[in-house]
Amino acid sequence: MLTKKHVKISKDVSGTTGVFGIIGNPVALSLSPMIHNTMSRFLDIDTAYAPFQVEDGNLATAISGAHALGIQGFNITHPFKQDVIPLLTHVDPWALKIGAVNTLKYNDKGYSGYNTDADGLYTSLMTHNISLDGKDVVIIGAGGAARAVAIMAAHYGAKSICILNRTQSKAHLLAIDVKKYYNIDIEALSLDQWEKVPANCTCFQTTSVGMGQSKDAAPIDELEFYKRISVAIDLIYNPFETLFLKYAKRQGSYTVNGFGMLLYQGVKAYEIWNDIKLTDAQLSFLLDEMQKEYKRQSV
Ligand code: NAP
Repeated sequence: MLTKKHVKISKDVSGTTGVFGIIGNPVALSLSPMIHNTMSRFLDIDTAYAPFQVEDGNLATAISGAHALGIQGFNITHPFKQDVIPLLTHVDPWALKIGAVNTLKYNDKGYSGYNTDADGLYTSLMTHNISLDGKDVVIIGAGGAARAVAIMAAHYGAKSICILNRTQSKAHLLAIDVKKYYNIDIEALSLDQWEKVPANCTCFQTTSVGMGQSKDAAPIDELEFYKRISVAIDLIYNPFETLFLKYAKRQGSYTVNGFGMLLYQGVKAYEIWNDIKLTDAQLSFLLDEMQKEYKRQSV
């Protein structure tokens, strides 16, 4: 049945509309389509953005097929941010340093890869006046998102980095990778070694604990740990306030969730695709609009 919603989409999309999307698995709950389609409406740019779920083993076929179809760009999400790298014709040096790509842009021969996660997170920190310069940074987790956080923290002048991960060997590998580029004091620990983290630290929660089926959980439950955190940042944005952030807030930390990072990594991808730069006023308007839209959709 044709509904008002369908009429609206068919009116917005024409034969010249630039097509973009997100590749991942799963992608059904991704907020990126809402973010990018809202930006196109707001900026009056003729693009449409859709989710594409790709099964493991099908990534190379999906990328070459998308290029043959002339799809202009993608965001890449879990679990493909590292696997996509060998399929690209060019990888931006910042993305190579992080070791993960979350944005593809069409070129004549294939796609160029970028990483906007670290810049998106950094912009979100700036909007909260959070500086990493001279700070002791603690990162919980050692997956793809933790890589972006670790490189960003080292790049923006953190004094030390302490990585705590369930699988300590992965924390070690990440520490070695960061050391290749930055001369920084960095330590790799397991989650139960939290007593070794310094007081007054800036702590990034980058694991998936606190969302989905584990939405009532936190990676560390000892309240003594949270007393050491002055600024707590969780990369999760759904729920808006995770148990990790609740614990930290109760112990007096300043807290930030992952919504700003999500929005700003999307904005940076959008800027790369369309060769534009949004003004600060446009950015703060968009943040407001997206938060309202997100809350409307969450009701
Ligand atoms: P990933 O590469 O799969 O890494 C997952 C991390 O979570 C690993 O360190 C893993 O530890 C840890 N972990 C998973 N289950 C755990 C458990 N039960 N107990 C303890 N640790 C556990 O995923 P990712 O791409 O880094 O994403 C991680 C989170 O960041 C997700 O929640 C994602 O939504 C969020 N994120 C947000 C944004 C944003 O824009 N706000 C952007 C990127 C990612 P092991 O190494 O031991 O397996």
